[in-house]
Amino acid sequence: MTAAAEVPIPGELPWLVPKRAVLFPGAKKTLLLRSEEEIAAVDAALAGERFLALFPPGPEGEPSRRGTAARIERMRRLPDGAVRVALAGVARVDRATGGLPKEGRAAPVRVAPTPETDELVVEALRRNCLESFRLLLRSRPGAAEETAEIAGAIPGADRFADWIASQLNLSLPEQIRLLETDGARERLEELARILDREGKLIELETRIQEEVSAALGEKERENYLRERIRAIRKELGEEDERETQIREIHRRLAAVRLPEEARLSCREEIARLKRIPVQSSEFTVARNHIDWVMDLPWNALSEDRIDLDEARALLDRNHAGLENVKDRILEYLAVRKLKRDAPSPLLCFVGPPGTGKTSLGLAVAEALGRRVARLSLGGVTDEGEIRGHRRTYSGALPGRILQELRRVGVRNPVFMLDEIDKVGPQFSGDPSAPLLEVLDPEQNRGFSDHYLSLPFDLSEVFFITTANSTDTIPPGLLNRMEIVEFPGYATAEKVAIAEKHLIPKQLERHGLAASRLKIRRRAIRRIIDVYAAEAGLRDLERSIAAICRKRAAALLRGEETRVTVGEEDLEGYLGTPQYFPEIKARRPEVGTSTALAWTPAGGQILFIEATILPGRQSLQLTGQLGEVMRESAETSLSYVRSFVDRHGGPPDLLDGRDIHIHVPAGAVSKDGPSAGIAIVVALYSLLSGSPVRHDVAMTGEITLRGRVLPVGGIRQKILGAHRAGIRLVVVPARNEPELREVPEEVLRRLEIVPVEHVDEVFPIACLPKPGRR
Ligand code: ADP
Repeated sequence: MTAAAEVPIPGELPWLVPKRAVLFPGAKKTLLLRSEEEIAAVDAALAGERFLALFPPGPEGEPSRRGTAARIERMRRLPDGAVRVALAGVARVDRATGGLPKEGRAAPVRVAPTPETDELVVEALRRNCLESFRLLLRSRPGAAEETAEIAGAIPGADRFADWIASQLNLSLPEQIRLLETDGARERLEELARILDREGKLIELETRIQEEVSAALGEKERENYLRERIRAIRKELGEEDERETQIREIHRRLAAVRLPEEARLSCREEIARLKRIPVQSSEFTVARNHIDWVMDLPWNALSEDRIDLDEARALLDRNHAGLENVKDRILEYLAVRKLKRDAPSPLLCFVGPPGTGKTSLGLAVAEALGRRVARLSLGGVTDEGEIRGHRRTYSGALPGRILQELRRVGVRNPVFMLDEIDKVGPQFSGDPSAPLLEVLDPEQNRGFSDHYLSLPFDLSEVFFITTANSTDTIPPGLLNRMEIVEFPGYATAEKVAIAEKHLIPKQLERHGLAASRLKIRRRAIRRIIDVYAAEAGLRDLERSIAAICRKRAAALLRGEETRVTVGEEDLEGYLGTPQYFPEIKARRPEVGTSTALAWTPAGGQILFIEATILPGRQSLQLTGQLGEVMRESAETSLSYVRSFVDRHGGPPDLLDGRDIHIHVPAGAVSKDGPSAGIAIVVALYSLLSGSPVRHDVAMTGEITLRGRVLPVGGIRQKILGAHRAGIRLVVVPARNEPELREVPEEVLRRLEIVPVEHVDEVFPIACLPKPGRR
């Protein structure tokens, strides 16, 4: 303060009228200024010697004659345009009589004179005041002793009196009176009176507070103290944290479009924010909730592309075949074109891995011009992951559905829900309940997330779920979805897809020009046969990627720049083949037939081995067979017995012997009735001694009378048989219509024989008994 005082105060100063408090010379104060004039005054001061005059408001609101010259110590401009200045009071000044020029302009001022005083009296008064001040401080929490020491060390009675005045919580008129009092003696006398009164007041207040304290609970006491802190911060001109936050919320709330209900909820939360302590976790919880509500895309919709030709072209560009899905999407678009609010379909893409479910889903989004949200349900074990946790949980959040919607920022994305058949088996409760709320058009208009507690409209979301199998999808859900099958591809389809899509895609990913690398068609075929014997395209694509990777590396090393990969080169790129068509290695055998299984990974062949052992006419089954398959084996045995009887076989054929049926290969889950026909054939072969052709596979459920009943998954089973190198497949006659779905190419290489009765199978599948020829 002394340094500031040494700079001569200019005769004209820009001026302000601070509203609440007087700045005494020697004291400091921070002001938050917003009006244009005030800011102009600060700017004017900064352009000169950094001095300002502060005139407190008089009784009628007009600026007082007496004011304080202050020096600006620091100034900061806040983002909202306000200015915060730290001021140090320097001297009392009087403004000239008459009006003041406009704020921001300089006004003529004169430093107030200091009258002579009687040293002794002044010193006595000073001691008296210091003592009263010290007593007063004792009642205040904090560094009372230090403050008193500072006061004691202030040189000059003038400065001392002003400093004490600035430390007291005085009314504005009282402060003005002190400011207007010239002469240390007069000022100290006035101050002594005030200190005496304050001391008495404090005494009284302490007594009251003790009484209140006894009556208040812990919580209320805390709130009371926080209130005090808040008041002090405000007094210091520091911005209040709560107010800053609430102002920010109001600003955003004014800008976002929300349904009335959501807006009301935000308002209620804001009202809560005003009541609870800023530092409490409750405050954060309420604040987060408001943010969530404001962040959700309540009304944000992306514009649909409704040009059918364009959409078709887009779908065709990325995906070969899959006509049924493409048609379905275009149909939806057409309807949507006629009727803007046509309900979104709820599709479920079902098929083995790598058959294009995910990538087509993404292409659908692109074709419709929609954003993509994704969530894998595989392993989801808790309803809260879908529908959120109630806010009473600590750390509660909305469910993943709403989290995704917030991320994409619109409420009409294509939403891919992967692995709906693998919702965690340990799901607490019924997983279909929350999923139905999400997916069911009857319910999802007002989807209620536990965290949000406000209905959110999901009806514009285009849901696509994916699954490997429908078996484990809860029936209530399955009913409501439109199932679209992705049955897998035959070799020729795979070759075409590889040439048209997978190879160009991988070349591009590896930064290779098409001229740098060719893969011969025969090589592609061989990859499919021995490196990627699967229903889908994953291993094929992976193999192509591996070749591209190696080529890219070779190019970097400066090796040949143009290469054509033939069949014979494959081992060099891909190592030893992993698959050998099993059938090629086998021979016709007595008691062993080939069945077809349907697995989530596509169709597969399955061997049925029957043997006779000494025993007590029982049937033994091994190979981890399910209940239905066991029953099917019993039915088959009964049928074969009656067949033997009817054909004059020896009645004691099974006396003293056990039949043992084994189904090897542990990985495939073996259940269902569709192996019935193959079990009958194995048993027939065993009992008759005729070997079963190793290149024939069969599928079909049988009755006790030997009739063949239809089974599921025909197309996939046939493709699986084809991959395994089977030549002839026996299928139930009633499945014949489905053969239309089998690719041309497969039908050309594979003989398919529909049968109505199992007896028809024996001559097809079995060879004559050796030795009879
Ligand atoms: P899924 O989701 O069924 O497991 P993906 O969508 O991941 O299968 O498909 C595996 C790969 O095969 C992807 O690179 C995909 O682009 C490609 N693919 C699948 N089906 C086709 C198709 N009909 N045409 C072109 N590429 C396809």
